Amino acid sequence: MRLEPPGYVLEALEALRGAGFAAYLVGGCVRDACLGRTPLDYDMASSATPDEVRQVFPHTRVLPTGERHGTVTALLGGNAVEITTFRADGPYSDGRHPDRVRFSRTVEEDLARRDFTVNAMAWNPWDGLTDPFGGRADCEARVLRAVGDPRTRFREDALRILRALRLACQLGFTIEPKTLRAMEEEAGGLARVSRERVGGEINRALLGPHAAWALRAYPRVLFAALPELEPMLHTPQRIRFHAWDVWEHTLRVLEATPQDLALRWAALFHDSGKPAHISYDPDGTTHFRGHQATSVLLAESAMARLRQPKALLEEVRTLVRRHGDRIGPDNLQRCLSRLGEGTLVKLLLLQRADMSGKAPDVAAGAPRLDALILDAKRLVREGAVLGLRDLAVGGNDLLALGYEAGPELGAALDRLLRAVLAGRLENRRDALLAAARERLQAGQER
Ligand code: ATP
Ligand code: MG
Repeated sequence: MRLEPPGYVLEALEALRGAGFAAYLVGGCVRDACLGRTPLDYDMASSATPDEVRQVFPHTRVLPTGERHGTVTALLGGNAVEITTFRADGPYSDGRHPDRVRFSRTVEEDLARRDFTVNAMAWNPWDGLTDPFGGRADCEARVLRAVGDPRTRFREDALRILRALRLACQLGFTIEPKTLRAMEEEAGGLARVSRERVGGEINRALLGPHAAWALRAYPRVLFAALPELEPMLHTPQRIRFHAWDVWEHTLRVLEATPQDLALRWAALFHDSGKPAHISYDPDGTTHFRGHQATSVLLAESAMARLRQPKALLEEVRTLVRRHGDRIGPDNLQRCLSRLGEGTLVKLLLLQRADMSGKAPDVAAGAPRLDALILDAKRLVREGAVLGLRDLAVGGNDLLALGYEAGPELGAALDRLLRAVLAGRLENRRDALLAAARERLQAGQER
């Protein structure tokens, strides 16, 4: 295993050591190093208390980011490093927070309170790796295993159940069977965890590169947080253009979307309304007429419950509602005008993923949508008419023609825009003025 932290990290470890404290790198960065990856950030654990950390770094800004739990953040040469005092957590009676935090002087006690063996290793340049729970072997075997008795650990803190799912989605690790059984048995404890925290872990899970694989392997854990998805499991789709049941199709769509939060949520929920809308032909062929509206409602309520930001929820709502809309060269500009470039491109990416999760002959058509995405981007680049401000006439022009100020003026401009988008009018000043004058004279507008 190679851990070659940047200079500011080594200097901080040495400064703590020089002042007589024990200091280690812990958590994600040690795990990443075991996996041969470059860590994104470096967390430290030390025998120094927050006040002692301040004394060791008198010229450094030290922020009290979680001081009650022994965590401060030192800004070392512009880099934030979390330094947490060794802890040995007291009993948990609320399933989320230890009743009291006891600072500890040994790293072993600190590692014992951590969630999974791969997260319970410590390293520093002079002692090398401290690995009391076999985290390194589990890293190599790509296994998530609770530290200690899994049921006890998930009862202490049910958020760990979703952390395991999230880590499986991020790392592609399997969950050790006893750990998994305990996760499923203790999943009811998630009700005691704050919804923001649940939402945060779900977001990180969905963005993970192995999300579809992990959710296929451990669907029950996801359903504990998002029960509205469960009916999709085993809902059949018996119709020519589908090859999978609704849940497997959903996972394939998820897998085929880029790592974007709105797209991943939309992929997860786009067909969630199907189980409630299933109908059968006499020959057993399935239909799901009108499922989009139910999918929208389910996505909305789940995302609101998990405290997702409003803008994200809005975008997911649009993507889910329109996932079956027909978009082609003839209405591309209109769709672009209505949705804006960002959302339209995401909708096309969702539709592309949706196709690629269907029967092979449907999936073969997915690249057609790539061409549409390029067309949409070209329209934007070439300054195509997309909104009122792109129109070759404005409100003042219509006033000069004799239109009256007020809502009718806006409506008249809208009509001109729609005619241009539909290709019935050219976006030229003379053509637009002529059309507006004609309408005024025909008495259609005043
Ligand atoms: P990432 O790379 O995503 O930051 P991480 O493992 O560092 O992954 P953090 O949330 O930063 O995740 O947590 C840092 C460490 O703190 C973990 O590796 C783990 O040892 C410990 N930890 C975090 N949350 C818990 C928890 N709920 N219960 C027990 N230990 C935890
Ligand atoms: Mg971390």
